[in-house]
Amino acid sequence: MKSFNTLSQVLRYLSEAHKTERTIVARMGLRTNGDLHLGNVFPLIVGTLLGSKIVKKGYEFRFVIYLVDQENGPEDLPFNKIPYNNKLSLADYSIFGIKKFVGDVQKEVPDIEVVYKKVSDIQKQKKFRILLKNILKKDKRINLQALCQKHGGKIKGYLRKDTFIFLCAQCGKKFSYFLYDKKLELMLDHDVLGVIEDNLFPIDIHIIGRDHTIVTEKNDSALEFREKLQKVLGVSKHITFLTPLVLGKDKKKMSKSNETGLFLSQIRNENYSIQNIVDFVSKNVNKKNIEVPKFMYNE
Ligand SMILES: [Zn+2]
Repeated sequence: MKSFNTLSQVLRYLSEAHKTERTIVARMGLRTNGDLHLGNVFPLIVGTLLGSKIVKKGYEFRFVIYLVDQENGPEDLPFNKIPYNNKLSLADYSIFGIKKFVGDVQKEVPDIEVVYKKVSDIQKQKKFRILLKNILKKDKRINLQALCQKHGGKIKGYLRKDTFIFLCAQCGKKFSYFLYDKKLELMLDHDVLGVIEDNLFPIDIHIIGRDHTIVTEKNDSALEFREKLQKVLGVSKHITFLTPLVLGKDKKKMSKSNETGLFLSQIRNENYSIQNIVDFVSKNVNKKNIEVPKFMYNE
């Protein structure tokens, strides 16, 4: 899996590799956990900028955005089960905001096709479950979760042959599902999801944040972990584009969980427009990390 750090490297590689095909497909994943902040929109805009350059070279460009509405995260429930208000889930609300923002960006960067796929849908596809089974055969430590049918909370499970088995420590109940059972609302770690998504259908490039290259004391970086699983599946020949780390005020990765996210609503002042943000991303796309200019903080 080749990784690139600059848009020009990516363009050169893609046009070398695509002498005959007319369409280039890029993809990214995005959590649906609330309002968009600058760290989230960066890869979104990178995708559209890449698309506009590819279209200028005479290709068609499709940008696939995986909306992560179900994952095995630190929250008590997946995003599509967390209520935002009495009508919408947190995932529904977030997806509305993502589509609005991407629609606005597309007005500045036309001619690219954007396709959305929800994890809650794709994880029920037969191909997804087959890829997961192949991964589980190689790596038994992968975390599988579902919701307890009785108390509704997250429970852990495993796959035995073609049956998922989940046990609830709280209720003492056991739930089993056939491998392809569409009733199963399966939750997986973000990086396992990512590798499966990369292999569900042909893609040429995966746009991913540079934070995935950070090596922790105990483990490989997320990117190394993904590369290992990718070798197990051996399907996709895509390349990776690493987008810059957008730093929050604490000089660490901008994130909602650290409360350092600079939300789009907060930068809506006289200096803000979608065009400004697109320009900002365009200017900084090849950097390793970026500090957000003071004027964007609206202080
Ligand atoms: Zn239970």
